Amino acid sequence: MKFVAMLVLLCLTPAALAQTFAGGIAPRELDPAAGISVILLGTGVPLANPQRATACTAVIAGDRIYLVDTGRNCLIPLTRAGIQDIDGIFYTHYHSDHFIGLGEILLNMAIAGSTDSVPVHGPVGAIEVVDGIVATYRLDLSYRLAHHGDKFSAAVMQPRVTEHESGVVLEENGLKVTMFDVCHAPITPAVGYRFEYQGKVIAISGDTNICPAYAESVRDADLLVSEVENTQLFNAAINAARSAGNARQVEMIEEGIEYHADSLELARMAQEMGVKKLALTHLFPSIMPTDQAEALFTRGMSDLYKGPIVVGRDGMEVAP
Ligand SMILES: [Zn+2]
Ligand SMILES: [Zn+2]
Repeated sequence: MKFVAMLVLLCLTPAALAQTFAGGIAPRELDPAAGISVILLGTGVPLANPQRATACTAVIAGDRIYLVDTGRNCLIPLTRAGIQDIDGIFYTHYHSDHFIGLGEILLNMAIAGSTDSVPVHGPVGAIEVVDGIVATYRLDLSYRLAHHGDKFSAAVMQPRVTEHESGVVLEENGLKVTMFDVCHAPITPAVGYRFEYQGKVIAISGDTNICPAYAESVRDADLLVSEVENTQLFNAAINAARSAGNARQVEMIEEGIEYHADSLELARMAQEMGVKKLALTHLFPSIMPTDQAEALFTRGMSDLYKGPIVVGRDGMEVAP
């Protein structure tokens, strides 16, 4: 049997062989002349949903690929999208559901043969978080360097981190990235990003409730990728928890609602700010990716927002 398997492998073309090692996924073909789009890689929240990784969005600008946040299991939808190398990472804040997948993404890049250290951008706190992850991998790195020598890049496991104040944080290859403050109190700093490329604007919210700072920063965006929570669904859960005498659960839900973006308020804000297309991510509660659940989740939004609404599922690509 082993012999037959060997024969099959020997008959594969180099490209097919590479796919065999990447779970059958072909590398994504990148077109320098292409515009800007996003892939919603992680649309979940900390409470586990096997159908959703946590916060992670790829922004593709021509042949460059950036990530906004690197949540739990982000590597899996990233691999499914045929992406291995990353040109930069932007962090919105340091709740762990937004960064905990970083180590595995870097390790995968290093094993696959990447050699360059990835630039990481974020508000204050990025150095502490990335240093912590690098420290976690220190033993692993020592084993791999001792075993593989310079075939394994130590540089990839040590990202280049820059902490920023809000404002323009990157301009390269025609892409301009602006960091803006959002409202996720008591968590500060908490930011979102505006990506401008070839005349199109994509804004990504990070975690926030609806507030003037958030609204102003997404004005006239061609695409807004926003976090969202559905207060109506939570009200039913709160009533059930209260009836069951579960005060802890009532408070946990109420505290969650406070610092996330209510679906109807989000729809109203998107309409008022002239947002041309809305994509929902970080869905809270973390519904199943079914048409029925999504219809329930978005109920009432189309009455307030007249543009298209995309309910995010992991791996979904959205263009402005
Ligand atoms: Zn979050
Ligand atoms: Zn958060």
